[in-house]
Amino acid sequence: MEQRTTYQTVFSLDGKLALITGGGSGIGFDIARCMVEAGGRVVITGRREQPLQDAVATLGENAHYVVNDVTARESLDGLVEEIETTHGPIDILVNNAGVNMKKPALEVTDEDFDRIVHTNLNSVFSLTRACAQRMMARKRGSIIMISSMAAYYGIDRVVAYAASKSAVEGMVKVLASEFSGNGVRVNSIAPGFIETAMSKTAMGGDPDRFARAMRRTPMGYFGKPDDIGWAAVFLASEAAKYITGVSLPVDGGNSIGF
Ligand code: NDP
Repeated sequence: MEQRTTYQTVFSLDGKLALITGGGSGIGFDIARCMVEAGGRVVITGRREQPLQDAVATLGENAHYVVNDVTARESLDGLVEEIETTHGPIDILVNNAGVNMKKPALEVTDEDFDRIVHTNLNSVFSLTRACAQRMMARKRGSIIMISSMAAYYGIDRVVAYAASKSAVEGMVKVLASEFSGNGVRVNSIAPGFIETAMSKTAMGGDPDRFARAMRRTPMGYFGKPDDIGWAAVFLASEAAKYITGVSLPVDGGNSIGF
C-alpha cells in the first residue's frame, strides 16, 4: 500500500538547505526565519555585513551568511560553489533581493533602468542558472522568485521595477517547463503591500499614496514579512511537490482587481 504522508512530514523542511538573497532584512529575513522554524537550514546574502551578522545571531545555528552583491554576476557561480562546499547541496533557492525606484517614466534614465533590471532580473537569471545546473544533476530542488503585484498592474512611477518583475514571471514559466522533468520546481510569490523598508520608502510618507494602497487591499491592512515567509515554506516543502510554474499572490486580495 502507498505510504500516506502526514502534516508533520510534508510541511517540514527537514534539514534542507536554502539560499536566500537579500536575507538580512525585510521579507528575506522573514523567509529565512520561517524556513529555520520549519526545520530548514539557511544561507542568507546581502551587500552589507552588519545586517547579515545581526540576522544570523537572531536565527541561530542553522543560519549562515555570505556577503555578496547579486549584481556581480560573475561571482554567482563561485558563490554557489562556496556554499555547497561548506554546507552541502542547496535544495532551495529564493531570489528575494530586489530594488525599486519611484520616478515618472519620462524621468527614468538609462542608468536608472539598467540598475533596477540588473538587480531584479539579470542577476536572478544568473544565480538561478548556477543553482539549477546542480539541482538538475541531483534531480531535486525548489526555486522561488519573489516578484510583485507590480508585474500585473499598472502602478505608476515604477516602470523599470514593473518591467523587471513581469519578466521574472515570464521566466518562471519557461524555467518550470524546462526544469520540472528533472525534479526542479520553479514558482514565484507575488507580494502585495508588505511592511518593510522598501514599502515605507515607496509610500514616501505620503498619506494619499497610503490611502490609495489601502483601497487596493480588500483585507484592509498591509501584510507582514512572515506572510511571505510562510508561503515560501509551503512552496519549498513536499506539500507543494506537484506545484510548478505558478505565481502565488500573497496580497490581502490586491489581485482581485483595483
Ligand atoms: P528591503 O529593501 O527591505 O530588503 C531588500 C534586501 O535585499 C535587503 O536585505 C538588501 O540588503 C538586499 N539587496 C538589495 N540589493 C541587493 C544586491 N544587489 N545584492 C544582494 N542583496 C541585495 O525590501 P523588501 O524586503 O521589501 O523586498 C524583498 C523583495 O520583495 C524584493 O524583491 C521586492 O521587490 C519584493 N517585494 C516587496 C514588496 C513590499 O511591499 N515590501 C511588495 C512586492 C514585492 P543590502 O542592502 O545589504 O544589500
